[in-house]
Amino acid sequence: TIKPLVAGNWKMNGLKADLAIAAEVAKGADAALRRAVDLAICPPATLLFSLTASLIGARIATGGQDCSAHASGAYTGEVSAPMLVDAGATFAIVGHSERRTLHGESNAQVKAKAEAALAAGLIPIVCVGETKDEREAGKALAIVKKQLRGSVPDGATAASLVIAYEPVWAIGTGLTPTAADVAEMHEAIRAELGRILGKAVAAGVRLLYGGSVKPSNAAELMNVANVDGALVGGASLKAEDFLSIARAC
Ligand code: 13P
Repeated sequence: TIKPLVAGNWKMNGLKADLAIAAEVAKGADAALRRAVDLAICPPATLLFSLTASLIGARIATGGQDCSAHASGAYTGEVSAPMLVDAGATFAIVGHSERRTLHGESNAQVKAKAEAALAAGLIPIVCVGETKDEREAGKALAIVKKQLRGSVPDGATAASLVIAYEPVWAIGTGLTPTAADVAEMHEAIRAELGRILGKAVAAGVRLLYGGSVKPSNAAELMNVANVDGALVGGASLKAEDFLSIARAC
């Protein structure tokens, strides 16, 4: 059986004072919860080092929200995977829809970032998901499969890859797909990963759901077949909400 992962994506939120949120999560994550669920917090890059240091002993992992496809060099403003490792990260989110949309990232770029993350020893959390128009046109499954074929890194193993299904229309909107739609999508993702990476690897890859996950809907979403945790945006900025989502796994 797969141990679920609940990861918080703080997005572009968080100042030093907000390290208190992570401290509260650490305090509330008792031994039973940590045995049942892996927890991670992905703060802005400026907080990664101090947040990771503040969590030593808490067994809560951290991650970056993006990483460069390059390890170092003349790429002003970018943060590389080895830098994230140096700051203490375990994970790197890549291909979040906000990066695909606002920064025009292609599947090929996302794949290159995921491979850079793997090469540095990070676990990429590769995000996929359809827009509202694509879902209404009946193209959601086809779009997500295409994103997977284009952005899943070569050479990933079950332990070194996480996929997050985040329907774009569900992010920050309070809207969520039905449990049946999530089940259909996650089954299709597992099957497509089987074609890309082989069935044995695909069977063990954690498939997270993300998009308006909150305490009130977490139990229903987390109990769907092939849902192995959550990628949480807004609710991860409130320790009590984040913990209550983790307890729902
Ligand atoms: P919300 O949980 O705020 O909808 O954001 C989801 C998300 O984009 C996580 O990466």
